[in-house]
Amino acid sequence: MIDVLIVGGGPVGLATAICCARAGLSVTVTEPRAAPVDKACGEGVMPAAVRRLAALGVTPDGHPLRGIRYVDAAHQADARFRHGSGLGVRRTVLHAALAARAATLGIPVLPVKVTAFAQDAGHVTAGGVEARYLVAADGLHSTIRRALERDSRAPGPPGQSRSRVARDQAPQRYGLRRHYRVAPWTDLVEVHWTPQAEAYVTPVSPDVVGVALLFAKPRLGRPPAAANPGAAGQEASDRAPDDESGDFKTRLSAFPALLDRLAGADPASELRGAGPMRQDVRRRVYGRVLLVGDASGYVDALTGEGLGVGLAQADALAACLAAGRPADYERAWRRASGPAWRFTAGLLWSRNHPLLGERLVPFAQHFPWIFTTLVNHVAEA
Ligand SMILES: Cc1cc2nc3c(=O)[nH]c(=O)nc-3n(C[C@H](O)[C@H](O)[C@H](O)COP(=O)(O)OP(=O)(O)OC[C@H]3O[C@@H](n4cnc5c(N)ncnc54)[C@H](O)[C@@H]3O)c2cc1C
Repeated sequence: MIDVLIVGGGPVGLATAICCARAGLSVTVTEPRAAPVDKACGEGVMPAAVRRLAALGVTPDGHPLRGIRYVDAAHQADARFRHGSGLGVRRTVLHAALAARAATLGIPVLPVKVTAFAQDAGHVTAGGVEARYLVAADGLHSTIRRALERDSRAPGPPGQSRSRVARDQAPQRYGLRRHYRVAPWTDLVEVHWTPQAEAYVTPVSPDVVGVALLFAKPRLGRPPAAANPGAAGQEASDRAPDDESGDFKTRLSAFPALLDRLAGADPASELRGAGPMRQDVRRRVYGRVLLVGDASGYVDALTGEGLGVGLAQADALAACLAAGRPADYERAWRRASGPAWRFTAGLLWSRNHPLLGERLVPFAQHFPWIFTTLVNHVAEA
């Protein structure tokens, strides 16, 4: 029997495996997709996350990022990072670097998709492996989390709270991303805002930039995810929601200044999508099964700190398991994730507010020191 079985070999699963191995635990990862795994992502790694990766012995190639720029039709605001650089890095490059580090530590990665597991007082079994603990790092639409929530759901009170109903009916946010072969025109992550969507431009190499579009779409009239976990779980997090590049082009046309920059540039990757992004998760510890990364809950990609938060969670989780205190992880997870998630939720609320939304970029331009402080709050989260 090994100590830890990690289901999902994305960046957070691999980082958790590396942290566990370095803490002296025997660990195995299951990941059905061949390395290097790609995914829809803005690919901006904030400075604190770059330091966390380096501390794990992972230093992928990429494009240095010096800060964040907000742009709308009439305004522009720049905020520089105060403590080191971030990194624009292709997901495939990041994944390959993490996988290589895991390999040097002798961590086995099994090409297995885990669809079921069983736990008792002493151990967990999944994918033919017996372990003391199972860590679900299987992404936004985690199969393991859905099963745990289904099995542990107590009968609820008749009816739902008004805020819960409102959230279940609100439009859901999605992301689409594609790369373009063009020399980056800035070393900032450029965020273009319209009332309906944001376009993130991240330089990832001397001749490629990534463009990630974030937008809301109305729900399609099916039962809300909370009431029907199986349905939400079927949405693959790496497929474009509409599976059509036409949708990407139409949405991109709402950003004329960005279109000018990309004029004549060839696409350098296939279109990928993710969503719905928001995943409200009630708890992270279910006996010997624990959740990490996007599987443990997600708010939005608006502030681009998902990888940083996931790396912090990985560190905290490994420390709790190495100490033989898995129950402590719930509180450690809140410490690792809470400040960033609250900030993202607050910004998202402002962005959707009828009066505040259109004033965000002008505000950032007029109060650059506040903008810079907030950007650095996220960058160091
Ligand atoms: C549009 C968009 C833009 C973003 N931009 C940024 C950004 O700029 N900066 C940033 O820091 N973050 C960003 N994020 C967030 C970031 O991408 C995620 O937080 C990060 O990928 C989480 O990593 P993970 O390992 O938890 O999950 P994932 O990367 O989703 O990895 C999960 C892995 O689990 C595997 N898996 C799934 N099911 C199973 C199963 N049943 N058995 C075994 N394996 C399984 C999958 O194949 C996958 O490899 C963005 C997210 C989106 C959607």
